[in-house]
Amino acid sequence: MSTTDDAQALLARLTDDGGPAGTWSAPGRANLIGEHTDYNDGFALPFAIDRRTVAAVHVRDDARIRVASTFADGDPVEIAIADLDELFATDPAARDLPAWAGYPLGVAWALQRSAAVTPVGVDIALASDVPVGSGLSSSAAIEGAVASALNDVWRAGLSPVRLAQVGRLAENEAVGAPTGIMDQMASFLGEEDAAILLDCRTLDARPTPLGFAAAGLQVVVIDTRVEHAHSTGGYADRRAACERGATALGVEALRDVGVADLPRAAELLDEVTFRRVRHVVTENQRVLDTVAVLAEHGPRAIGDLLTASHVSLRDDFEVSCPELDVAVEAALAAGAIGARMTGGGFGGCAIALVEASGAAAVEDAAIRAFAASGFTPPRVFAVHPSAGAHPDRSSLIDSVEP
Ligand code: ADP
Ligand code: MG
Repeated sequence: MSTTDDAQALLARLTDDGGPAGTWSAPGRANLIGEHTDYNDGFALPFAIDRRTVAAVHVRDDARIRVASTFADGDPVEIAIADLDELFATDPAARDLPAWAGYPLGVAWALQRSAAVTPVGVDIALASDVPVGSGLSSSAAIEGAVASALNDVWRAGLSPVRLAQVGRLAENEAVGAPTGIMDQMASFLGEEDAAILLDCRTLDARPTPLGFAAAGLQVVVIDTRVEHAHSTGGYADRRAACERGATALGVEALRDVGVADLPRAAELLDEVTFRRVRHVVTENQRVLDTVAVLAEHGPRAIGDLLTASHVSLRDDFEVSCPELDVAVEAALAAGAIGARMTGGGFGGCAIALVEASGAAAVEDAAIRAFAASGFTPPRVFAVHPSAGAHPDRSSLIDSVEP
């Protein structure tokens, strides 16, 4: 069964009056390069992947919203739309709400805060083939699917960029995870065989052709199955270090610091803060270099930049973990052109850019290296740069009276 079938089947289980009126979907993403740069107003180069979260939606004749997900055994959560404000005014820890439901309900709440809407009651059934909690942004995928659906059903009329901001607002304020906007932008703006050069200060997003397929290359994901935890973990600590660095250097954000400024930063900052700053500054430069190298020399030439990004994340930013390091080393030893952790770190996935003909060897090498280290076997699979969020069937839009 496809993910769309799963979402529709769950919706049919929730409601007995007719089938789904429409389905919307949004992808997860892999970040090719540009990690921990988004909340520093910097650059990133993510691409949407060919794994998606699907929202099957049914309009109700009352003003309530009900959400269910195959991820949570299909158990529904229901609330009056008018009560969303009060729900999300409560501290996340004190809410009587399963954590996952904060994402779709948070999007409903954030959309109402961001646009004039016609908030008719809805049932939303969710299914996904994006690995959850692995750093491929199942969170942006669920936000994207729900935001696209409600944007149409509630006639909010927001652009993809505005919807990405709705997703981020939901994740930051409703869920309480202090993430940047990269994931949502990639999920909304992704294109076939292209990455998105994202300027996180201006939200300018430029499709950047990758040409992987034409060059006979593939991106292999090695999912370490070590779950990262964004809202706890070291993420907040790294953000704080970046803010500290920017303040000490007298800039609005680390985006405003160039590689040439690093010697001065070394004098002004304590050793740890300096290394955090150096990662962000050099990573921003690597993103721009990657775009230039892609255009001038093609995708086979970007490998060293990817691997340098990993080394910087491992040694300067210290957000890697033994499993990610083993994945990267095994992939490189098996012939990958470049490899790095992707996503926030502390677990999750590594990506390797490989010759399509050598993908199986990289997979074998990763599995053997994990076994030799006594780690849980990784999940290894290819991802292809793909299209962003969109309606899969739009019959519902026509059937809803404004
Ligand atoms: P990532 O985005 O890397 O997958 P996050 O911790 O940011 O990891 O987001 C994962 C969380 O998002 C899950 O724990 C769950 O609460 C929510 N989530 C993601 N996908 C779904 C889904 N299909 N159904 C319900 N909740 C989901
Ligand atoms: Mg996430």
